Formats: sequence, C-alpha cells, structure tokens
Amino acid sequence: MAINLRSHRELDLMRRAGKVVAEVLSQLQDSAKPGVSTGRLDRIAIEVASRAGAECLFQGVQGPYASIPFPGAICASINEQVVHGIPSEKILLREGDILSIDFGAKLEGYCGDAAITVAVGSIVPSRQKLIDITRRLLDIAVERMAPGIKWSQVAGEMETCARKAGFSVVRDFVGHGIGTEMHEDPKVPNFVSDDLLRNDILLKEGMVLAVEPMVNMGRSSVRTLSDGWTVVTRDKKCSAHFEHTIAVVAGGCEVLTA
Ligand code: MG
Repeated sequence: MAINLRSHRELDLMRRAGKVVAEVLSQLQDSAKPGVSTGRLDRIAIEVASRAGAECLFQGVQGPYASIPFPGAICASINEQVVHGIPSEKILLREGDILSIDFGAKLEGYCGDAAITVAVGSIVPSRQKLIDITRRLLDIAVERMAPGIKWSQVAGEMETCARKAGFSVVRDFVGHGIGTEMHEDPKVPNFVSDDLLRNDILLKEGMVLAVEPMVNMGRSSVRTLSDGWTVVTRDKKCSAHFEHTIAVVAGGCEVLTA
C-alpha cells in the first residue's frame, strides 16, 4: 500500500479545495430548513462550487451496486439513511429530521471532502445526542492525529466514544486517503479490526486523510436500497455522519475543510 505524502505546495492547493467544500457545507447548513427539498440543496452546492471554479466530485461516480452513476453533487441522507442518499426535488425536509450532507470538490487538480449532519428545525434530544457524539468522534481524530501516531490508537478511541454513548460505529463504510483523487489509499476505518492491527497506518507528515465517522443510534448493520446508492440502517434507527479532510503536519494535524 503506497500512501502519498503531500508537499507544502500541494497542501496549499488542498487547503483551497477544502475551503470551497467548507463554504458549500456552511451554506447548505443554513439552507436546510423544513419544506426545502434536497434537490434545492444540491443546486445550491453546484452554484457555490462553480462560482469558486471548482468541480463537484460526486456527480457521475460509478457505484458497485448501482446501475446509474451518482446523479447528485451532494449526498443527502435523512434520518435512517447513513450515506449516499440521492438528492431530489421531490424529497422535502421535515421538522425534526436529521440530514447528513456529504460534499466533495476538486480545484486546480486537488480534492477536498467533508460531511456534516444538521438538525432540521427542532429535533428530539436523542437525535441531538447522536449528532453531538458523531461530531465528537471526528474531534477525537483531530485532537490525536500527529506524526508517529498509529491510526488504530485513534480509531480505538473513536469507537469507544460511540459505544459509551450507547451507539455503534458503521463498519461497512470507512474513510480514505485523498489528494489528486477523491479516494486514495489507505482505507481509514473508525473502529479497530484485526485487519487494521495487521496493516496499521503509521501517521506521517504530509499524509492527507478523509476521516468520516458514521454512527448509528442502534445497531451497526446497514444495507443498500434498490436504487443502488442509498445506504440505510437495518434497524431503521437514525444515523449521523461527519467528515473532514485532515493533513498530518509537524506536531499534529490541520483540518483542510474547516
Ligand atoms: Mg469521504
């Protein structure tokens, strides 16, 4: 497994791509209100990205289970949908929903990828707790990532945090390296497995990882709907998702999509 190490010049370009991603997500967070369609959010993302001169990365991606390439610029996953929800003018947000929005952009040849989960109007406390804990898992990664740290140490803390809250970490989908391609080596799980312990990732300066914890309120198992894209929890309980593109730098890390 070859993990790309990025130069200062490359990190500067990735910072610029990351900034576009952050700006899109910030606008979508403000726009995700009851009655708004996820298709409208998709149009806003395309508009903000194109104004910045960036390309939307998810549009046209081929999936392993899907007969159609991904049609949206964003993934919009509501409540029990975990990831890869297809945005649509027909899907209207309702008060009390939680919405996970994932967005990736490429600018001047370099990629940024991030996700947030937002409350639509006012939500029940258990859903707020799920959002808070999932964001906490990502914060743990940002606090711990530094040269010389093994990823399994970070992933172990993330998994423990979810479990202590009574939640579970999704195991079928993981984070990834990112650079000139949206998905590069290595795979970046949010849990510790025998496979990770055998092939641990020793963090080095210049590595850039898209860290993306997905946390379920109930059990960890998920399935893909017949559209070939939308991933949902098997127990139909809610799921949340946060992601940042994070560079390992001297003495720590830098969030490129902040
Ligand atoms: Mg990602």
